[in-house]
Amino acid sequence: SASRPQLRWRDEIDNSDAPFVPRLRAKPNALVPLQLVLVPPSEEAGSSGGRGRAEPATWYANPYEREISAFAPSDAQLLPGPDRPFAPLHATPCTWVDSEATLTHMRARLAAAAEIAIDLEHHSYRSYRGFVCLMQISTRDEDFLVDAIELRGSLHLLNETLTNPNVTKVLHGCDSDVLWLQRDFGIYLVGAFDTGQAARLLELPSYSLAHLLSHYCAVSTNKAYQLADWRIRPLTEEMIAYARDDTHYLLYLYDRLRAELHGRGLCAAAWARTAELCKQAHKVKPFDADESAALLRRHAAPLSAAQRAVHRALYCWRDAMARAADESSGYVLPNHLMLRVAMAMPRTPEQLHAACHPLPPVLGYNSASVLSAIAMALPRSAIDHEKKVP
Ligand code: AMP
Ligand code: MN
Ligand code: ZN
Repeated sequence: SASRPQLRWRDEIDNSDAPFVPRLRAKPNALVPLQLVLVPPSEEAGSSGGRGRAEPATWYANPYEREISAFAPSDAQLLPGPDRPFAPLHATPCTWVDSEATLTHMRARLAAAAEIAIDLEHHSYRSYRGFVCLMQISTRDEDFLVDAIELRGSLHLLNETLTNPNVTKVLHGCDSDVLWLQRDFGIYLVGAFDTGQAARLLELPSYSLAHLLSHYCAVSTNKAYQLADWRIRPLTEEMIAYARDDTHYLLYLYDRLRAELHGRGLCAAAWARTAELCKQAHKVKPFDADESAALLRRHAAPLSAAQRAVHRALYCWRDAMARAADESSGYVLPNHLMLRVAMAMPRTPEQLHAACHPLPPVLGYNSASVLSAIAMALPRSAIDHEKKVP
């Protein structure tokens, strides 16, 4: 179904907290052979929380760590180049890539490029861990919009180019992209340049892409589509324009930023910082019931001990429901409603409805289950009190 594309890859969905296993089967551009290395639990990061709260006990190392460390930018990647103005969007071909044939065509075009720009659009509301919906790629001459839902199983073929250190990959703010590429496609980046890191090193007034586009390209963009539903097909004209904007100007920005960095002796640092981001390994974020307390602190709401216990039980309940239904916890029970239900401590379906309207669908279908989770969390004293005062 178009609205629930993950049904197509249902067999590979693992919403457990087991370590993520790299999806790589072949390793193009390898300096060392493909090997899965489980990083053992470290001694200083105690198992009982503290600093490593969001970190799993163990994970698989990034299989391209050595190649990323060994990458040294060439003179062409460090020195200012010739002036290459960008063409306007309307004068640039744009190809929708959603089949093996169009993917093959794109790969041939990319193989001829020395530099490419990449960005991703992601969906996280109707899925437990989220998934990439769209991959935008621009060369100096054309834009590609890749249907990452349709081609989910084939995009690993891009590793040939994306792990080739001689092809520059330009991204803006690639922290998440690096992890999403690993998680969904088994794709790694060797030889990447992050224009966001460049903006930081240059201490520009803003590090956002919107700022870089307006400052260097005199292009104003509409970031309203960032949170659009990127699952829908066909994409609307506005979404297509937004998606193309995100990569179309990046190679020009790379030229401008590289020249400025070079003038201040900072170019190598930009490559090194991006390499650190690319060395990240995708890790499963383990569930931690204690995070419910952090949510309450953020709301600054005065809750009784009983209400706090119910809030924690709801927090655990919604995580279990979200995993089973492959929905986000925010879809199952948004934070503000979770707080309201915790404060109401409902015992009956009527009280639940009164505390929580509109009732989110997953909560409605499972009201018996949530009421029993609430009842079990209530301290004995609260229940005894209720019995005495009917
Ligand atoms: P971008 O590269 O800025 O287009 O963002 C890539 C993806 O990150 C988007 O498709 C969203 O899924 C997600 N994203 C970006 N900004 C936000 C935000 N402010 N809140 C939530 N998700 C975001
Ligand atoms: Mn991005
Ligand atoms: Zn984007």
